[in-house]
Amino acid sequence: MTYLNQPDYVRYLCNCGSLKPISKIYFCRHCLMIRCGYCVCQEVDSHYCPNCMENLPSSEVRLKKNKCSNCFDCPCCFQTLSTRAGLAPVRAAAAPAEGEENRDVKPTKKVYYLFCSLCRWSSRDAGIPDQSVATGGWPEQENPHVTRINALIDYHKILASIEKQQCERKKFHPKRSFMPAQTMYSFTSALVRKRIGRPIKPPIQSQSSAHPVPSVASEEVDELPSDIFTESVDITKITTLEQRLQHPEVQAEKINELRPQHRQFLVKRSQRCRVCEHNVSKSDLCPQSTKFKILLAAFYHIPEVKIVTCEPLRLGKSSELLLKFCNPTQHQTQITILPLDTSLSTSLPEEKDVKQEDTQGSESPNLLPSTIRQAPVTEDPKLIKVAPNADLVMPHSSLILPPRDDAAEYDDTSDNHNFQDDPKLVVWRKGNKAVIRLHVTPHDTNKNTDDPVIVGFVMQHGYVNTIAALEHKSPQKVDVKVKLYLTVGQLVGET
Ligand SMILES: [Zn+2]
Ligand SMILES: [Zn+2]
Ligand SMILES: [Zn+2]
Ligand SMILES: [Zn+2]
Repeated sequence: MTYLNQPDYVRYLCNCGSLKPISKIYFCRHCLMIRCGYCVCQEVDSHYCPNCMENLPSSEVRLKKNKCSNCFDCPCCFQTLSTRAGLAPVRAAAAPAEGEENRDVKPTKKVYYLFCSLCRWSSRDAGIPDQSVATGGWPEQENPHVTRINALIDYHKILASIEKQQCERKKFHPKRSFMPAQTMYSFTSALVRKRIGRPIKPPIQSQSSAHPVPSVASEEVDELPSDIFTESVDITKITTLEQRLQHPEVQAEKINELRPQHRQFLVKRSQRCRVCEHNVSKSDLCPQSTKFKILLAAFYHIPEVKIVTCEPLRLGKSSELLLKFCNPTQHQTQITILPLDTSLSTSLPEEKDVKQEDTQGSESPNLLPSTIRQAPVTEDPKLIKVAPNADLVMPHSSLILPPRDDAAEYDDTSDNHNFQDDPKLVVWRKGNKAVIRLHVTPHDTNKNTDDPVIVGFVMQHGYVNTIAALEHKSPQKVDVKVKLYLTVGQLVGET
């Protein structure tokens, strides 16, 4: 699978005009279209701590400021800190003067401190007192700007509530007379402003008491300390930029001022097709699980194309190009190579219109409720910036690929399936994979011979839509067309 991270020689065209390798695109089974990262909505499904794997609801996460209350990061190297136990003598007020005797009589107390096993930072070095309980109780570092931040948060809460009121007012027009007095006034003043042709001021004006004092830019900065040019700098005692930015509200300058930081929560995201709003990727909510509930990665639905070899490319001369096709689906497919200017409209059976009406009438449980749903984004296909600079001879026959069979991978006996292959086209086949031979001729008109040679074609493949099987009686069989651009190599010298 490592080749998936290599440079993108074979790129698939998304409807939005971006070209992506197959490992970075989704295939929406409802639209039967490729969706790239720009064409999906990202949603946060769950928050979890990557260290203790605690999974919290989003309301609680907000209260905890996206940080785990139990786990700490090392302020020096950002690894997770571990809690270590140590022994400390118990100090009693009426202890005898002789220390030796005291230690024999008085038992020691178990105390806990934080320790980084990577860089050996410890809470003791930083002067943080040891704790008597293993779980927390660590002193929290106060944010110096906490009052200002709270004022801003309160102000934005007011803004949010005003906006919510306005939304509700729009929704329930007939009930206008039952609104609270204050909303009524702001509504009428907005109306008056509109009538007299003045811009509608936001109703926050009436909330001027809650309006925080705006920040003022100032050129006055504190003078540098006088010894900054004379004292030698000990780099080992000064924090790095990274260490400071890890804790932006304090930004400690000296190493011993660093304090352990609560571990940030990570999120699990799901991706939703922007056009039809069905999920194209949804992971299991359990933080430990790496499985997906829904995963419509194109890698599992669209034949993968790999460049096997390409003969040296010369201007105006035909070179042989070997391409490997792999069928990842559980159904046999027929692949046809079509010219680049073929229309990409998917040939759907007539029942498509009926199906669309159905989904509009009764909402599928997969969809978001209509109140929080975004307006569907339908974009016209955009222009592609890549221009092929070589001709590809289109094959006259198509290629049939049998379904994926994981057991066949380990079966060395020949399984030719007795396909009536065109020997001019199909060079090799095994299981669900086949290599075909095409011919590339770089354009004579290429001005810059340093440019890579790019060819493009439309791949039409039969796709069995099993999602239709849930809604209809039989699975839908459609022909999906995908546009591909292949960077086949560099031109060699004229000789
Ligand atoms: Zn896209
Ligand atoms: Zn944690
Ligand atoms: Zn460390
Ligand atoms: Zn879709």
